Amino acid sequence: MRLHEHQAKNVFAGAGVPIPDSALATTTEGVVDAAEEIGFPVAVKAQVHVGGRGKAGGIELVESPEEARAAADRILGMDLKGYTVETVLVEAAVEFVNELYVGITMDRDAGQPVLMVSTEGGVDIEAVAAETPEAIARVHVDPVAGLRPFQARQAVYRAGVPDDVASDVASVLSTLYELFDERDASEIEINPVMVTNDREVVAADAVMNVDDDALFRQAGLAELEAESYTNDLERTAGEYGFDYVRLDGNVGIIGNGAGLVMTTLDLVDYFGGTPANFLDIGGGAKAERVANALDVVFADDNVDSVVFNIFGGITRGDEVAEGINTALEQFEAIPKPVVVRLAGTNAEAGMEILNTDLVEVEATLEDAVERAVDNANEVSQ
Ligand code: GDP
Ligand code: MN
Repeated sequence: MRLHEHQAKNVFAGAGVPIPDSALATTTEGVVDAAEEIGFPVAVKAQVHVGGRGKAGGIELVESPEEARAAADRILGMDLKGYTVETVLVEAAVEFVNELYVGITMDRDAGQPVLMVSTEGGVDIEAVAAETPEAIARVHVDPVAGLRPFQARQAVYRAGVPDDVASDVASVLSTLYELFDERDASEIEINPVMVTNDREVVAADAVMNVDDDALFRQAGLAELEAESYTNDLERTAGEYGFDYVRLDGNVGIIGNGAGLVMTTLDLVDYFGGTPANFLDIGGGAKAERVANALDVVFADDNVDSVVFNIFGGITRGDEVAEGINTALEQFEAIPKPVVVRLAGTNAEAGMEILNTDLVEVEATLEDAVERAVDNANEVSQ
């Protein structure tokens, strides 16, 4: 689960990291009111899960109510790299003299978390990593021993952070490591950490990814999940308990099992199509689950055709087939052509049961995917 900037900032602030005064708003009036309350200048920042919002036009610094209104009108409802902006963070603008980068992630090669610090913050850190990797200081942490106090200072000094703010930055880094460890994070990042005229250190941005499989033991964070969805499709899919990722193509994909769904995505690409989503309905494929999955995929305007790829293990093919029939019979007209491929336990029985007035049935995965791609191409032509 990826937290929104404002959610991550609240988590960081709760642990003692300084953040600017801020308020959330979803309407133009709300932005203007919040800005007046906080005091100008403020930054108006789109809350969507994309990096580089600044460059993409999702952040604006404003100095008056009129400017706040114009920025709110422009940013609320805008499309930012495929995400509609519904909420903005209105935040006291920070006057800064330096922008630093601090981050913690899992270094899978080393099998350890790694602290990263750079004085080249604010900009695209991936570009810094690619072009001047030496500008990012890295210090590995033994997850069993935990972070030893000198390690945070070591990372900060190696990066060349100015002496007078080094201990504050090291203390932010230590706090972030505690959060990383205690809150089951897979990634934590502040880019930029702003150093103000008064040599204060402030988190101006915040990224936090939490391991989904640890949410059961992360009470305070799990509750943020519903709010962390960035569009209605993700929200609905989350409520149904599906693993769902929206992509930008037009072939809707439903399968049971992450590997099977990934394979289907690859094959859609292989046959010249573009996947509209990843949707794993998980184990069991009772009518209601199938209907819920179709609900999500049909609701996506980008989807022109749908392919089901179901492998029966414990889930029996005939049960799945009944589920698909029942789910589709609820529609007066099937909104988008559906192709089904069944394999595994009772697959033959399942294929016989499937109502071919409602779906097209293919015996092999390749044929099913190719058919779905053809269907999508016909619609989009
Ligand atoms: P990102 O583009 O999605 O990473 O969003 P950030 O929150 O990192 O903002 C991008 C850039 O906008 C920062 O590096 C700053 O240069 C600028 N910015 C954001 N907030 C403020 C602020 O409060 N004051 C000033 N002066 N600039 C800001
Ligand atoms: Mn940033």
